[in-house]
Amino acid sequence: CGIVGYTGYRQAYGIVIDGLKKLEYRGYDSAGVALHKGEHVDVYKKTGKVVNLEEFVYGQDLQSTTGIGHTRWATHGEPSDRNAHPHYSNSGRIAMIHNGIIENYASLKSELINKGYHFKSDTDTEVLVNFIEEIQLQNECPLEEAIRIALKRVVGAYVILVLEAGHPDRIIAARKGSPLVIGIGKNEHFLGSDASPMLAYTKEVVYINDYELAIITPGELILKNLGNERITPYIQKLDLEL
Ligand code: GLU
Repeated sequence: CGIVGYTGYRQAYGIVIDGLKKLEYRGYDSAGVALHKGEHVDVYKKTGKVVNLEEFVYGQDLQSTTGIGHTRWATHGEPSDRNAHPHYSNSGRIAMIHNGIIENYASLKSELINKGYHFKSDTDTEVLVNFIEEIQLQNECPLEEAIRIALKRVVGAYVILVLEAGHPDRIIAARKGSPLVIGIGKNEHFLGSDASPMLAYTKEVVYINDYELAIITPGELILKNLGNERITPYIQKLDLEL
């Protein structure tokens, strides 16, 4: 399983697909991407290999400078197109990918069903993206704030990448227990489960720690903890000789 993300001035799709291929060694049963289109987010996902996904999207308009990609190792719900990531929230405004497990998803899911939410997949991930949406609607707060509040109630392990309609050059990322690396470029940022998807573009990386949340745009990386305190990113230079 793996995650990849890109926001900058280049086309995101190719970078994300190449990145997913570099992470294939981690094992997976399905793959998907979300591409930001400004006022909406497009999602494409398919069981099987990354090449199956490439065949599936053939002929689509994949132009976008902000995108995220996922390879899934199913834990909740069988491997299927429907259970593959990314998952939308009920409004379709938020799209999310997730590696890991949300252990308390069942209780959150029944809370949401009582509020009228419906689910298209059997995943714990779709519960989390809707839980985030519900918090955002209740508090009328920015998405990053909703994610922060949601993650304080989540039990489990995760790395998540989130896109929101209307915020075309922004990726919000968070982790606990699953790896997340951010590559720093000039007016571009790369995200990956490890550094392999970004090595061709940059050697400067930030390893995100547990309980940290990153708000990433082409020109800026804002890092916070779940207590909403700013953290100075510690930039490491990868030594290729190693
Ligand atoms: N628990 C999630 C699912 O089953 C994510 C699995 C993964 O880490 O790929 O869809």
